[in-house]
Amino acid sequence: MTKSDLKARIKQRIAAQGPMTVADYMATCLGDPQAGYYTTRQVFGREGDFTTAPEVSQMFGELIGAFCLQAWERMGSPGSFQLVELGPGRGTLMSDLLRTAALRPAFLEAAELTLVEMSPKLRKQQAKKLEKSGLQPRFAEGLDQIESGPLIVVANEFFDALPIHQFVKTASGWLERLVGLDDAANLGFGLGTARLSDDDLPRSAALAPDGSILETQPAANAIAEEIGTRIAKDGGCALFVDYGYLQPAPGDTLQALYKHSYDDVFARPGEADLTTHVNFEALAAAATRAGAIAFPPLDQGEFLLRLGLLERAGALGTGKSHLQQEGIRDAVERLAAPNQMGQLFKVLALSNTPAPLSPFDEPSGR
Ligand code: SAH
Repeated sequence: MTKSDLKARIKQRIAAQGPMTVADYMATCLGDPQAGYYTTRQVFGREGDFTTAPEVSQMFGELIGAFCLQAWERMGSPGSFQLVELGPGRGTLMSDLLRTAALRPAFLEAAELTLVEMSPKLRKQQAKKLEKSGLQPRFAEGLDQIESGPLIVVANEFFDALPIHQFVKTASGWLERLVGLDDAANLGFGLGTARLSDDDLPRSAALAPDGSILETQPAANAIAEEIGTRIAKDGGCALFVDYGYLQPAPGDTLQALYKHSYDDVFARPGEADLTTHVNFEALAAAATRAGAIAFPPLDQGEFLLRLGLLERAGALGTGKSHLQQEGIRDAVERLAAPNQMGQLFKVLALSNTPAPLSPFDEPSGR
């Protein structure tokens, strides 16, 4: 058994120590230092397993750049602030964002860029991608390594990669779902003894039939709370884009993606991407508990259209060939159409103040 045979190592670990939580399984598959998905794979783009919004079109990062410029002005255009991206992938979003931000040189001069990235391989790609941006990124493992001061945080498809726990409804309550070995020594699901507390049960859980699954995301919520705390203390904004839902309800959202197709979650540990849908209500609640203001989340399509996606597409297409214009139209569809990324993806904004934050609606309860 080599270190690169992650499936064999997971089985060996279960045989020795017993079944593991779904969260442990996810964290191992994605982050194992020798064979984890993000540590070893070429994950994005056509040769990878999935295409994210910044990889669909430069317009995505540019519009988020426009959002950041407005957010910075709303903060009073501080002469120094922390610009932070969580899980920057290939660095495409930040590179497009900074190109737009360069329209306001004072923004770039004020920005201290930190990328929170666990994968050494991706860190190298990100540094290379940002060489021309004029900003030298620092790398961090977590938010505790970000210097104090006002901050703007962006994250696209970051929270969906963080480990979740699953619980299954049984006659004796919601029991934690575990990953163990079946009689043929294959990976399979089983039940543990840990129970979901009543506080974690959404109202819809009461009517759910036995066998239903509920998910909790303590790792994601802890990060939202940490960001909420920082923003409440030092001022600033955060923008989280991810696929997810606004009202928690029973459902199994754990999925594996391999070469742009859905895959069995046990088939290729470390080779397939594992993701889940993000509970935005829980993210907003965690940040609010920490003292931040959460704006009502927007669908990605609505968010991009309000920021001027169509105008940007028109400008980008001017003077281009027919084929290029076709490509831009396709990208607008993919990013914003309700049956593509437009509705499944949500955007949550946090800030220290409830003052208007374009393009979001006012926070409720004002
Ligand atoms: N934002 C990029 C990439 C999304 S993939 C895009 O939209 O294209 C998720 C990213 O988060 C990868 O860069 C991955 O390495 C990083 N990541 C996942 N879990 C992480 C963790 N616990 N800490 C830091 N980075 C993490």
